[in-house]
Amino acid sequence: MILHWSAQDRCWAPRIRHSVAAELIETRVRDNVFVWTLGGETMQTAYGTNAVGVFGEGAVLIVDPLITPAYGRLLATAVRRHTAAPVRFVLFTHHHTDHTLGAAAFEDAGAALIAHRACRERMEEEHPGIIASRKAQPELAELFADARPVPPAVTFDEALVLHIGDVEVEVWHPGWCHTPGDAFLYLPAERVAICGDLVFAGYHYNYEDASLPGVREGLRALHSLDADVFVPGHGAPAGSEILQAQAIYHETVEAIVKSGVTAGQDDGAIAASIRKRFPGYRLGMVTQYAAARVREHVAKHVPAPSGARDEG
Ligand SMILES: [Zn+2]
Repeated sequence: MILHWSAQDRCWAPRIRHSVAAELIETRVRDNVFVWTLGGETMQTAYGTNAVGVFGEGAVLIVDPLITPAYGRLLATAVRRHTAAPVRFVLFTHHHTDHTLGAAAFEDAGAALIAHRACRERMEEEHPGIIASRKAQPELAELFADARPVPPAVTFDEALVLHIGDVEVEVWHPGWCHTPGDAFLYLPAERVAICGDLVFAGYHYNYEDASLPGVREGLRALHSLDADVFVPGHGAPAGSEILQAQAIYHETVEAIVKSGVTAGQDDGAIAASIRKRFPGYRLGMVTQYAAARVREHVAKHVPAPSGARDEG
């Protein structure tokens, strides 16, 4: 079931409608598990990131509350349409801002923020500068007007079990996959996996902070779960076929980069080849990272073209 609603009549002044999105798309994947996104592929829609709500008896868990406090407030409104129970916990699957900065809205209301230890470290290193930079850009200033760093108060190293009222939620760190501080969630009774950016569905994969062997290990970990529904970090929830599609994407990108490197192409040309191979995929801008990061990786495995070596 998919519902659409507009919150434009709530508090957004007309002049900021252009910079702040106001409409969440809701997907109910279980009676007690909801996914919300602003869709699209721009910063103004959090690059299409999925936020997830897990509703238990008397408590709610929010996973990845989007890119800015304004969107955290939209999520809070969406939660209240279904339950009066408070949001007790917010969990980050990794440190990227499109998954995290909306947490301020829930922290202000008393929620505990949770993430892997390395996620917190990267948030502390990177977010103050990123937030200041965005506030200084006129076209982004309103979107990030009340954004602030939201380092989690609770961290873990290996795994964690949350009890959201009567709902059990396993939280696992699969190692460095998409980022050093990745986590995915598994709801055994609901047979639902919340993958974070271990999976992009219909979106190009962002390798900016990724480990190439790690992204494959992460998919294997997800495959081992007894889940029927996998919620990707970006794109529509689906069955395990989206894990298979992601594995094929990684293999295909690696092959494109290898052949591009061998042919002496630059990153721009290689990125264009990736976009051409996956027509219709969103977030084409991140294919630049794919070219650069995969080039680094394959450089260790593919001999440099003759004449390119200078070490004699
Ligand atoms: Zn990410």
